[in-house]
Amino acid sequence: MAYSLAIHGGAGTMSRAQLTPEKELLYHKALENALKVGEDYLINGGSALDAVEFTVRYLENVDLFNAGKGSVFGNDGKHEMEASIMCGRTLNAGAVAGIKNVKNPIQLARTIMVESEYVYLHGIGAENFAKNYHIPFEDDFYFFTQERFNQLNAIRDSDKVILDHTDVDYKFGTVGAVALDKLGNLASATSTGGLTNKKYGRLGDSSIIGAGTYANNATCAISCTGYGEYFIRSVVAHDISCLMEYKNMSLQEASEVVVKDKLVKMGGEGGIIGVDKNGNISLTFNTEGMYRGYTSEKNPKLVTKIF
Ligand code: ASP
Repeated sequence: MAYSLAIHGGAGTMSRAQLTPEKELLYHKALENALKVGEDYLINGGSALDAVEFTVRYLENVDLFNAGKGSVFGNDGKHEMEASIMCGRTLNAGAVAGIKNVKNPIQLARTIMVESEYVYLHGIGAENFAKNYHIPFEDDFYFFTQERFNQLNAIRDSDKVILDHTDVDYKFGTVGAVALDKLGNLASATSTGGLTNKKYGRLGDSSIIGAGTYANNATCAISCTGYGEYFIRSVVAHDISCLMEYKNMSLQEASEVVVKDKLVKMGGEGGIIGVDKNGNISLTFNTEGMYRGYTSEKNPKLVTKIF
């Protein structure tokens, strides 16, 4: 089987005018480097699970994206992160939400999947689990970025929440990766800091298996980014898989039905990346842009796009 890999770094209403050529280059470079990380695993016969975990870890370590370092601020001035990962071969999954100071939430999600009898952990319990498994933590300063702090301060006294790439400088910046490896196994991973100014322990779709992340060797692997409330209510990732499984749609057809029709009718902005069991890739969004990239064994160029 020929491998395929796709990634996203969030979707939103980015204005070209706001994105300086220097900044645009930084985004392309970061996406390209992330693709290289995943591609390296896949070329060398590594598993789709390793490819998506380590690609997402790379993106979590870059402060341009809203995941890991660079996560947005909640209303309390803290970073609360979430992540999930799923294996298409076994349908095993691991997810984590409401965690603070964990350097790589996707590493924790994978560890939950592999080492625990649970799928979904949150908050202090999840952090204690991470400590037991020697998952690295960082202090608050590591997660601080001035830009994100300004985004919070602009709306902190209101009830507004924003997707971190939306409006002027704000867009969704969640990161994700989907892969098909040479053995024909699919995997998907997603990680986020959520929405700027979120309150009351709000959680999004990114850590919810079926909503923000789904993988099934019978159909596809999907990772989502967008307004989580709509993605949860539409069970987006699983819905795409179902349309393929029960209605025999192609990945692209199913993605378009869900992202460009169903979500749009509800008012849900965002997009998805997907790869099917034959290595076909879909990068489908209903926003102005989505940071994205892909490569495959059949066409081994590293392609990155924003608009
Ligand atoms: N889906 C994420 C959430 O709602 C946000 C994003 O994709 O940027 O938490």
